[in-house]
Amino acid sequence: EAFAKISERDERVGAYLTLNEEGARAEAARLDNKLAGGEARGLLFGLPVGIKDNMVTEGLRTTCASQFLSNYDPIYDATAVAKLKQAEAVTIGKLNMDEFAMGGSNENSSFHPVRNPWDLNRVPGGSSGGSAAAVAAGEAYFTLGSDTGGSIRQPASYCGVVGLKPTYGLVSRYGLVAFASSLDQIGPITKNVEDSAYVLQAIAGHDHKDSTSANVDVPDYLAALTGDIKGLRIAVPKEYLEGVDPQVKASVMEALKVLEGMGAVWEEVSLPHTEYAVAAYYLLASSEASSNLSRFDGVRYGVRSDHAGNLLDLYLESRSQGFGPEVKRRIMLGTYALSSGYYDAYYLKAQKVRTLIKRDFDQTFEKYDVIIGPTAPTTAFQLGSQVDDPLTMYLNDILTIPVSLAGVPAISVPCGFADGLPVGLQIIGKAFDESSVLRVAHAFE
Ligand code: GLN
Repeated sequence: EAFAKISERDERVGAYLTLNEEGARAEAARLDNKLAGGEARGLLFGLPVGIKDNMVTEGLRTTCASQFLSNYDPIYDATAVAKLKQAEAVTIGKLNMDEFAMGGSNENSSFHPVRNPWDLNRVPGGSSGGSAAAVAAGEAYFTLGSDTGGSIRQPASYCGVVGLKPTYGLVSRYGLVAFASSLDQIGPITKNVEDSAYVLQAIAGHDHKDSTSANVDVPDYLAALTGDIKGLRIAVPKEYLEGVDPQVKASVMEALKVLEGMGAVWEEVSLPHTEYAVAAYYLLASSEASSNLSRFDGVRYGVRSDHAGNLLDLYLESRSQGFGPEVKRRIMLGTYALSSGYYDAYYLKAQKVRTLIKRDFDQTFEKYDVIIGPTAPTTAFQLGSQVDDPLTMYLNDILTIPVSLAGVPAISVPCGFADGLPVGLQIIGKAFDESSVLRVAHAFE
């Protein structure tokens, strides 16, 4: 059914970069046999899943939507992918994205953009645009995305689906091609909150192959979906409602009324360092990216320039040809911020701002169970309308970036429409309290 939808729709949507039709059919046949034998079934038995193309998949092309990796076939599975296999989900293909996950509209894919299934002239968001569009178009039962500054939540919001960014460290990053290692997290994009809880259950947990993976017990997320939020204390940051499209704001206020009707109470609060989040993020994420992407040298991975006369030219030519403009911009920005003489003024300063932002969250969570606001300031914008203006593009992430810097979990759930386009509600929780985030989202939905 998923492949039928893909052949019917994906020429227009552009969500997939690689299909795994033969492999998926073989796995489905194996599961069919198992079913006939009456054996115990995995948690996600037989569900077709699409994987963002920055997670490595054994023998299945993994490009990060970059020309640099256009010929790269990994020899192992990312831990999250291996865990889905253990749960007996079936990988049907790899999903389009912004190159190396840098972007917020999917227009930075070096292959082709993704289009929003609600309006094909609009972006699906990014960088996990293919992951969100595939679920919205019925081209996968669920997908995995990755979120560094909003890349699961913002496309989920634009495409009217559910996207969860777990607490930093809850899901292993082993086999996720690193963009900004202190921020990157893998998470599910699904049609509804219950599915999100199922997928998180399958992929969460400690992994000795990732040194930043947290050694915590994984609770029963499905047990958290009680429908009961009586007495829940909600904080609504005033900074998250400033500069937001009036129709988006109206949808969020309406959602708060619904939650109030279920026995929750909400109050306006202030997260005073919000205005510095975007600047701090772009310094930190670019610095980490400039270091992480130095491994792409034309020697070890992917495409190698074939007319370089010496080693330095080989690096230079391979990197000049292999990376697109946004990736180059970030590498240059990050290299500059880390240079001696500038380090204290930019990188170190941004780290200090990150601590202050985290403190805003810590203080708010002393009094409140969850923080709620919009996921993005607007709905999906027109393709091409912001490509020449990186600063405007960066500002689309103003409401998701603070959460990433603080490392806490957050979900985006659909909460209405503005001019026929989906609006997302962002529910933010304490570190490792995915249960509350899911419970509130499920009760609301
Ligand atoms: N849009 C943000 C960026 O361009 C976030 C990307 C992400 O979360 N991977 O960096």
